[in-house]
Amino acid sequence: MSYEIVIGLEVHLQLNTKSKVFCGCSTDFGSAPNTQTCPVCLGFPGSLPVLNRLSLELGARVAIALNCQIAKEIRFDRKNYFYPDLPKDYQISQFDQPLAQRGVLNIITDEAEKKIRIRRVHLEEDTGKLFHQKDSSLIDFNRSGIPLLEIVSEPDMNSPEEAYLYLTALKSVLEYLDVSDCNMEEGSLRCDANISIRKKGDKELGTKTEIKNMNSFKGVKAALEYESKRQIDLLEDGKRIIQETRLYNVERCITEPMRSKEEAHDYRYFPEPDLVPFYFKEDFLRDIEKGIPELPEPKRNRFIKDYQLSNYDAAVIVSDKDTADYFEKCARLHGNPKTVANWLMGDISAYMKENGIVIKNLNLKPERLSGMLRMIDSGVITGKIAKTLLIEIIKTGTDPEELVKEKGLEQISDINLLENAVDEAVAENQKSVVDFKNGKDNAVMFLVGRVMQKTKGRANPNKVNEMLREKLKGAK
Ligand code: ADP
Ligand code: MG
Ligand code: ZN
Repeated sequence: MSYEIVIGLEVHLQLNTKSKVFCGCSTDFGSAPNTQTCPVCLGFPGSLPVLNRLSLELGARVAIALNCQIAKEIRFDRKNYFYPDLPKDYQISQFDQPLAQRGVLNIITDEAEKKIRIRRVHLEEDTGKLFHQKDSSLIDFNRSGIPLLEIVSEPDMNSPEEAYLYLTALKSVLEYLDVSDCNMEEGSLRCDANISIRKKGDKELGTKTEIKNMNSFKGVKAALEYESKRQIDLLEDGKRIIQETRLYNVERCITEPMRSKEEAHDYRYFPEPDLVPFYFKEDFLRDIEKGIPELPEPKRNRFIKDYQLSNYDAAVIVSDKDTADYFEKCARLHGNPKTVANWLMGDISAYMKENGIVIKNLNLKPERLSGMLRMIDSGVITGKIAKTLLIEIIKTGTDPEELVKEKGLEQISDINLLENAVDEAVAENQKSVVDFKNGKDNAVMFLVGRVMQKTKGRANPNKVNEMLREKLKGAK
């Protein structure tokens, strides 16, 4: 029997406004508990919410970028439920007139491009945060009232991998828009995953479960992999799936039941009487649209076309806006985009990973990188020397040309200066010489390597190669 996996994702995003969505309290992360609160976000009776204008603007920015239709009239509703992290006993959210609906986000799978439809984008307030201890729980209301944007997809993903690609693509767009830190560890981006299984060809959707508590995109993928297998196994055994909310257990990599449909909430939504409806003026929306930068997808296509990058290279580079900007500056300065891409995705990216820094904080001006690459092009230094030189340039912030002069790192192409090293390499590695004579051509490469080592990477490898072949031919 072959099954189809169906996945829909709900993403909650904390918008990076300075103050909360319905009061003036600060949204700073990491302050002492309960120091950023007031009667509004503590839910005191009689306090009144006032909408933060920027939160609506940032929401619209996301909605436009996701190709949604923005509502003519935006209304807020009360979502009623009782939980200690929600002092009012209701959350101000949006029900039937959300900020925006019917958008789309493209993902790139191994086979093709795929459109994932966005069902809705709406604005709501975050809740307080509970800390469970041994026999008690503590609560921090600093988070209460931080603007949250909920982005709900249609059930258009058909594998955990596609869900992962969707989240990555979405995060990349959100980072380009500069609307949130998108930091999953700090909780500024959270994801609930809905998943069901059906027989291939079936029209009706299967019974779904909703999985919570993942703290990374890889975690979402792993949870969905586990859950899809669990559901398929149940169906194979002739059992049925129970609609329920499940928690992902990060340590054990499994999902566990949390609450079933029977215990599910009836939220008794009704219009929030303390907030008026909101309307966007046409020109206001147009200004927001104008302020949206070139997004990852069009940028990727342009990089492929303008810089002849491979699909893969272009996708990696545009996934982060700062990296894309950096690449473009270097490519223009140096003139060989492929070389720039290789260095960026190779040695530079490795250096950043090792030292835990992002490109914004990388001490390597585009001029410096392209200067170094030009020295390789013109044969002043070898590619091998460049690898260590690069780290030196980053660490000291020195101009590459100066550094090469100062350290005497110029490439050696003069046969007279290479002669000794070549002779030594041959004398010390008779086995390679024999191998070469017996037809093992790449024995030469080993000898080239020895010469490079003797010259501390400065010998012109092509020249050395030529010299060795000449010499070994004579020895034949
Ligand atoms: P709920 O009322 O339980 O929140 P919704 O219908 O509002 O459910 O959908 C929430 C999310 O679940 C959406 O992202 C949607 O695409 C997804 N979804 C709905 N039904 C299914 C299903 N049968 N299988 C997988 N995902 C689903
Ligand atoms: Mg839900
Ligand atoms: Zn407040």
